[in-house]
Amino acid sequence: MLKSFKTEINPTEEQKHKINKTIGTCRYIYNFYIAHNKELHDKGEKFMSGKAFSVWLNNEYIPNNPDKIWIREVYSKAVKHSMEDACTAFTRFFKHQSGFPRFKKKSRSDVKMYFVKNNPRDCCCERHRMNIPTLGWVRFKEKGYVPTTKDGWIIRSGTVSIKAGRYYVSALVDVPEHKFTGNFTEGIGIDLGIKDFAIVSNGRTYKNINKSAKIKKLEKQLRRGQRCLSRKYENFKKGESTQRNIQKQKLKIQKIHQRINNIRTDYINKTIAEIVKTKPSYITIEDLNVRGMMKNRHLSKAVASQKFYEFKAKLKIKCDDNGIKLRIVDRFYPSSKLCHCCGSIKTDLKLSDRIYKCDCGYVEDRDFNASLNLRDATTYEIAL
Ligand SMILES: [Zn+2]
Repeated sequence: MLKSFKTEINPTEEQKHKINKTIGTCRYIYNFYIAHNKELHDKGEKFMSGKAFSVWLNNEYIPNNPDKIWIREVYSKAVKHSMEDACTAFTRFFKHQSGFPRFKKKSRSDVKMYFVKNNPRDCCCERHRMNIPTLGWVRFKEKGYVPTTKDGWIIRSGTVSIKAGRYYVSALVDVPEHKFTGNFTEGIGIDLGIKDFAIVSNGRTYKNINKSAKIKKLEKQLRRGQRCLSRKYENFKKGESTQRNIQKQKLKIQKIHQRINNIRTDYINKTIAEIVKTKPSYITIEDLNVRGMMKNRHLSKAVASQKFYEFKAKLKIKCDDNGIKLRIVDRFYPSSKLCHCCGSIKTDLKLSDRIYKCDCGYVEDRDFNASLNLRDATTYEIAL
């Protein structure tokens, strides 16, 4: 089973230059391939496959156009891969699966630098760095996330990409299935919420990261940055600011967005890792009506920032990897209203009632009570 691991890297200036140049060349070749096929089509000639294009490029085009020799200055496997990508785009078009292939624009392009393991020394991965063909050892920002070669993991291929001025590597790793054996503990229920992010029936509570000082500070910076941007637009109209200034401010905002996003994703990953590490035999969560919650004007921002969808999707993957059953209880199950002690239902429970008090004398934190009910739910579906 191949699994992909993506993490931020910290390339040297020289490596950055190489990555930029390779991605630039790949983009050029991608567009060139599309343009070339358009031309062939207009002349009534046959479509050229990626392979045929590669042969033509190397044996005819470059020798006849010495000013294009720079195409050969970057990692050839990456360039070849961009032709295959473009060829796939055409194949999808021919099969009516997508529209006519589009040119990749420089500003909004998702072109990546592909690499592949060709000899034993390629793609070696240590805790803090990875050996990428033509780039050499590249340092990770987060150590120990990508599985290391020393532990017997093999990286088959991967890509290097750039987003908002940051560099990332995504590695495809051969992962043996069900690595996780041993004894499971009893099942757990997780109540997801707005006040706290997750309340687990084993007593752990994961706070809402958006209420942390770090995120609040970044959000403040973001608001300030956006105000500054609209001011720059105003000044641009008056001729007092330049397009370049606006672009610079946009990048600044993008970077803050990215940082907030990274913190949130990181938090989800850590939460899931910690929950799965307790080896529960099953995990029960509620089928969240995220779309319904998003319609609520007062909740939508809070819900979106909690990334429940991402949490659920990633939890599912982790559960699969570890042989844990993920149970989904439908959203009409009264997990909050049910008394975990006597089983009666409190119909007048308000969202503001943080403590659950039952007539039977049972008193418990509202969300913790819900997590216990989820754990013990008897009607559920197994997530597939
Ligand atoms: Zn009760």
